[in-house]
Amino acid sequence: MPARIAINGYGTIGKRVADAIAAQDDMRVAGVAKTKPDFEAKLAIRKGYPLYAANKDAAAKFDKAGVKTAGVLDDLVKSSDLVVDCTPEESGYKPLYEKAGVKAIWQGGEQHSLTNLSFNAAVNYQDCLGANFVRVPSCNTTGLIRTLFPLDAHFGVASVLAVMVRRATDPGDSKKGPINAIEPDLEMPSHHGPDVQSVLPNLNIHTIAVKVPTTIMHLHTVAVDLKKTATADAVLDVWKRFPRVTFVSGGDGVKSTAQIMELARDLSRNRADLYEIAVWRDGVHVVDGRRLYYFQAVHQESDVVPENVDAVRALLEIERDGRTSMQKTDRSLGIGVAR
Ligand code: NAD
Repeated sequence: MPARIAINGYGTIGKRVADAIAAQDDMRVAGVAKTKPDFEAKLAIRKGYPLYAANKDAAAKFDKAGVKTAGVLDDLVKSSDLVVDCTPEESGYKPLYEKAGVKAIWQGGEQHSLTNLSFNAAVNYQDCLGANFVRVPSCNTTGLIRTLFPLDAHFGVASVLAVMVRRATDPGDSKKGPINAIEPDLEMPSHHGPDVQSVLPNLNIHTIAVKVPTTIMHLHTVAVDLKKTATADAVLDVWKRFPRVTFVSGGDGVKSTAQIMELARDLSRNRADLYEIAVWRDGVHVVDGRRLYYFQAVHQESDVVPENVDAVRALLEIERDGRTSMQKTDRSLGIGVAR
């Protein structure tokens, strides 16, 4: 019988995770929980996902708006095998899940200390088998791990400096900014470096972040000192054999994140999501054999989605082999087809 998965928080990440879970044959969406009876709640019903109010206050709002629910979050949690928590950071549901004896997966807005286990399918699937709670790190962190882990495995990484040019907010959000400014993150290192180390503890990484007025993607400029000598072709070859990394080319007219998202729309996937990390093939340079430079772009709304699906399989031990789970997830979402 497919595993019953609850999604608490049905916004940017939650609605994508719900669709990805619905696309698997070994798990199903038991229901989604929300605080507001907005258009996303109404669309969840149209998609056939049982809709639950996050609490009694929310239930009153749903009733008033005439949006029919299947119950409240407590009911959903009790009848599920696992909750994917996609609520805003620090919503504080851990005691509820613990009380119900249900496993849970959180997102990157939470601290590593909430679970003491941060998940990346390629790196530590095995360590998370059967765990009760894990966190899938943020979109930026997942993006850095996807390209740095294979580099470390093949060439050894002595040190990394990654500068992250971050999108201001998501496309559906009209409240946040900046809308006409560049905002440096004055914390040093930015939280992303330590966050990468929550999955790759021995990686010597330093990160700097700035926020810019765009909504469509993050862009990373990465400088890596390798332990073994390499060429740009050898580096590309390693990434080519690694899942969830794809290539774009300035020579093909992909000069910016705008063309990457156009390419993603042309792929006709669900919501035009690009789950892979896009590396500019002709932006990969190796100087003196050991200093590697590259650029990559991260579709912040979707790169963590396949990781959530794999985390479900690991926690519930539906599949003991991480590689098999990743292949299954990737096939269902059309990942790898653009390569
Ligand atoms: P969002 O604001 O788009 O969606 C949050 C959803 O949770 C909304 O549907 C909201 O109505 C609902 N909600 C709010 N409070 C709730 C509560 N108390 N109980 C139940 N539901 C509640 O947020 P998001 O961007 O999807 O972020 C969710 C998590 O994913 C955060 O930890 C965030 O850091 C992380 N994340 C976000 C992105 C991104 O780019 N948006 C990328 C990776 C990870």
